[in-house]
Amino acid sequence: MQEYDVVIGLEIHAELATKTKCFCNCKNEFGCEPNTNTCPVCTGMPGGLPILNKTAVEYCIKAGLCFGCDINDYAEFDRKNYFYPDLPTAYQISQLEYPLCLHGGVKLSNGRFIRLNRIHLEEDAGKLIHLGPDEGTLVDYNRGGTPLIEMVTEPDITSAEEAVELLKKMREALIFAGIANCKMEEGGMRCDVNISLKPAGSSKFGVRTEMKNINSFKSVARAIEYEVSRQAKALRLGEKLTQETRKWDDEKGKNFVMRTKEQATDYRYFPDPDIFPISISRDDVEAIRKTMPMLPDERRARYIEEFGLPEYDAELLTNSKYVSDYFENCVANYNEPKKISNWIMVELLKIVKDQEEFVFPISEKDLTYIIKLVEDKKINKTTGVKLLNKVIETGKAPEVIVKEDNLLATISEDEILAILKDVYNNNPKVVEDYKNNPNKVKGFIIGQVMRATGGKANNGVIVNLIPKVFE
Ligand code: ADP
Ligand code: MG
Ligand code: ZN
Repeated sequence: MQEYDVVIGLEIHAELATKTKCFCNCKNEFGCEPNTNTCPVCTGMPGGLPILNKTAVEYCIKAGLCFGCDINDYAEFDRKNYFYPDLPTAYQISQLEYPLCLHGGVKLSNGRFIRLNRIHLEEDAGKLIHLGPDEGTLVDYNRGGTPLIEMVTEPDITSAEEAVELLKKMREALIFAGIANCKMEEGGMRCDVNISLKPAGSSKFGVRTEMKNINSFKSVARAIEYEVSRQAKALRLGEKLTQETRKWDDEKGKNFVMRTKEQATDYRYFPDPDIFPISISRDDVEAIRKTMPMLPDERRARYIEEFGLPEYDAELLTNSKYVSDYFENCVANYNEPKKISNWIMVELLKIVKDQEEFVFPISEKDLTYIIKLVEDKKINKTTGVKLLNKVIETGKAPEVIVKEDNLLATISEDEILAILKDVYNNNPKVVEDYKNNPNKVKGFIIGQVMRATGGKANNGVIVNLIPKVFE
């Protein structure tokens, strides 16, 4: 029997992919020269007055639509006051009482539904760059004022696996919706993990801790495993846990106390007097909904109904927007969805299977060219796969390799017949076995012909010719 139930709630941040920042007109772009995407507003100069980026509001609403949230018809922005060098205004513009989206949630593969509490819009802070000891710290305000959505779950998550699946699903949905890139290594998506334990089956929550700003799936899983066992150990020893913020150190694989509840800051939230509250009509929401691209569920349904794919294929192909787009581009080139799906699943996905972010090493055009050669029986499947790998290795176009390696040189039926006769004459045992059970030796015979032809003979033709020689 399990001693404790694990209770986890996530606060997930994602930077929105708007062209400009949330409350000024500066460019919202990663990787620019430090402090070039800045202005008096986002650097907190006296007299700077914010504007509100309509696209950021729309994107936040789209995020809400992705997860079935209720979109509020009234929303406000609040100042969350605190001083830190990466926050030159000394307050973060966020939403406390009246966020844009409430409720909704995400269904996991085990059938459990993780409820969302809210999604609100706020701004990101600048970035501190710590130099070596005694060399000080630099600050880059380019990121300051980047629109950020915070998606807060209810404490419905019960394991590291569920947490990671939820994050992956939410990340992919935002990417599908075209509102965020969620590049983990650029800090485009990160999350705070709240964890508590309670006696198995009990309905009363235990004391929770929070680990902030974890920015990879692997770290989230490790941080949860660590904190769960730390709390379980303490509880077993009869220790009292304290509500505190702990810092996850990914290198050491441990966490440390940062601050306890007593030290928690009072942010003195109040409505930002420089930004009008906004009202959102049902028509506004419907207009935004109309501009939503197809989300994974919709694409999956389309693949099954329109393309006749099995559910398994549809599921796998829509796990990532990249793969899904790639597949659709291939189908647009060559209308053989199932054939294309097979090649992607069998040949391409295995190449990138351990990578979280990848591009396939061959273009849609080149892949469909190869599939078409195989389907038109110009080359056989084995040669097709060889050709694919050679395109990947050499970066040459498949047309070029086909010419260079003379792949289209077909083996005539007469040649195949001649080889079959050789096989017949040299293998009396096989001839004998064929009489009893042709299927048992077919593979061997085909293999002999392939060997003699360098794999270029057509499987179907061989199969048709075997009886002529062996019967
Ligand atoms: P705060 O405003 O202090 O951050 P919230 O009530 O907004 O607190 O909760 C923040 C996150 O903590 C939410 O994701 C919520 O689900 C989670 N949470 C709340 N209580 C617990 C608990 N006892 N154990 C684990 N997670 C919790
Ligand atoms: Mg919190
Ligand atoms: Zn600015």
